[in-house]
Amino acid sequence: MSGGKRDIIFCDFDGTITVNDNIIAIIRHFDPPGWQPVVDDIIHQRKSVRQGVGELFRMLPSAKRREVTEFAVSQAKIRDGFAELLDYCRENDIEFLVTSGGIDFFVYPVLEPFGIPKENIFCNGSDFSGERIEITWPNACDSECSNDCGMCKPTVIRRYPPSAYNRMLIGDSVTDFAGAKLVDLVFSRAQLTEKCRELGLPHIEFETFHDVIRHLRQERTVIR
Ligand SMILES: [Mg+2]
Ligand SMILES: [Zn+2]
Repeated sequence: MSGGKRDIIFCDFDGTITVNDNIIAIIRHFDPPGWQPVVDDIIHQRKSVRQGVGELFRMLPSAKRREVTEFAVSQAKIRDGFAELLDYCRENDIEFLVTSGGIDFFVYPVLEPFGIPKENIFCNGSDFSGERIEITWPNACDSECSNDCGMCKPTVIRRYPPSAYNRMLIGDSVTDFAGAKLVDLVFSRAQLTEKCRELGLPHIEFETFHDVIRHLRQERTVIR
């Protein structure tokens, strides 16, 4: 806690909690025709995340539900230090939310072993009832966000006002840009590091969650 505020972490999933981006891994593995330009459009922000991810999954038949789910869950590899970070947060009264642009059918099973309360996990949904996989958006942008995020991190972050919370975000990529602009501190990898540099946002680069724990520990030592 700093200045009487409660610490809260908003943590990305794909490419952050997991080493790889699971959506990219799924689409590359099942390789439907035409996926590459859609991915490029998302990465270069020519297409909103919601629109692009919706299009990518619509390329896959619902009949492949089991294959897609099993593939996604089996290939996901957790970044080092994740369980330790969760322990550190529990011991130090740091609220930990997973704010993921990923999809429920792989996010929940992959996180299962870690005991994170379900209400602390925000991600997109999925509907396999039609011919093709349809992504659903239970956490879409509020009226203050015009990014068409899909799972809107700024919308979630705004529920925790800066007057009461010391807000931190952990992430790696395009789905984290909008949230990174709101928080007090960003733990960044990859593309998010470049973006933080470009915008002059306070950030700490990390490779494993041990790096994040080390920094949190230092901050606490300084304050106390
Ligand atoms: Mg990510
Ligand atoms: Zn949004």
